[in-house]
Amino acid sequence: MSFPRAATTASGRRPALVPNTLGVDCTTDQIRIALDEESLGECFAEAAARQIPVTVVGEGSNLVLRSWLPGMVVLVRLKGLSCARLDAGTWRVSAAAGETWHDVVNATLAQDIGGLENLVLIPGSVGAAPIQNIGAYGRELADVLESVVAFDRERSTFETLSADECRFGYRDSRFKGDDADRFVVTRVTMILGHTEIVADYPDVARRLDEVGGPVDRAAIARAVETVRRRKLPDPARIGNVGSFFKNPFVTPAELDALRAKIDIDDYPVSDSPLRKIPAARLIDRAGWKGFRHAAVQVWPQQPLVLVNHGGANGQDVLDVARRIQEDVHAKYDVLLELEPTVMGED
Ligand code: NAP
Repeated sequence: MSFPRAATTASGRRPALVPNTLGVDCTTDQIRIALDEESLGECFAEAAARQIPVTVVGEGSNLVLRSWLPGMVVLVRLKGLSCARLDAGTWRVSAAAGETWHDVVNATLAQDIGGLENLVLIPGSVGAAPIQNIGAYGRELADVLESVVAFDRERSTFETLSADECRFGYRDSRFKGDDADRFVVTRVTMILGHTEIVADYPDVARRLDEVGGPVDRAAIARAVETVRRRKLPDPARIGNVGSFFKNPFVTPAELDALRAKIDIDDYPVSDSPLRKIPAARLIDRAGWKGFRHAAVQVWPQQPLVLVNHGGANGQDVLDVARRIQEDVHAKYDVLLELEPTVMGED
């Protein structure tokens, strides 16, 4: 079924702009803000009655939007953060989907609760975190997640899903795959305090060395913040969605073939003979670092990131991404997968 693009909304207003950190223009008929579970359920009931599609958006920090989203866009703005001590060293921390992820990380660190120190400054909302199983510098959400509450659009009920039921993978979950349009995450609950510190990623280890002093959770959080600020553009100033490509996994034979062409690091993949390689190195060696076409640029400090300097649309950014994918494939025989979710129509 296709939905015509409206010149005005049902209420006579002009179509509304959908928020997104890439800074591209995308309009929709109607935007609703869900402040609690009840209003979220009502949005879906209304859309079902009117037979219009619904798209759910958090802070729009991992979305590439084409120029038009038909139907209703629901912004998930449910708030609330709670923390309960379980024993001397562990806490259960529960955050509503509309909380900002970085604020939640800071709130836990301020209480001296460890576990999220490697995950500071990741843009986006709490609700977006389990979708791609956010991770950085050796820690990922799946390491600490206990459960997720989500609105099941098929049954119109709120369900609690255990970590196993979320089927997490590397920057992946069932919410991105088979059930991409089924669940709307409304709450994330984590068990914190039990994880070891991880400080061996080269950028972070270098920064900790530079600073000196004890390597504790607070020092790791500060080091990650510094590294991220140096390498990554601030989405509040320059439109971007963080990494545009996933780091690929290759077989040992593929790695051998690749090493005949390029000097590249590789890392283990848990429970798998595959090896993980940095996409940034392939993009850099293929000559794309700093490349600019109109408003779209491959970020000079981190070629995994594509930025919109202002005026690009979603397709402009996707065109540059496709050129990079084709070139890297032609040169190195490696397929780079897009990391953000692409939505909408032109
Ligand atoms: P980086 O630190 O230069 O690392 C590049 C690649 O090498 C990544 O695949 C990383 O694995 C791997 N790697 C480096 N040191 C490793 C070690 N000691 N053990 C295992 N693997 C190691 O990467 P970057 O591009 O600047 O990004 C920094 C971190 O932020 C990375 O962890 C990256 O995954 C993460 N990040 C996550 C998202 C997201 O959640 N969507 C977006 C952007 C960046 P990992 O990817 O497994 O860490």
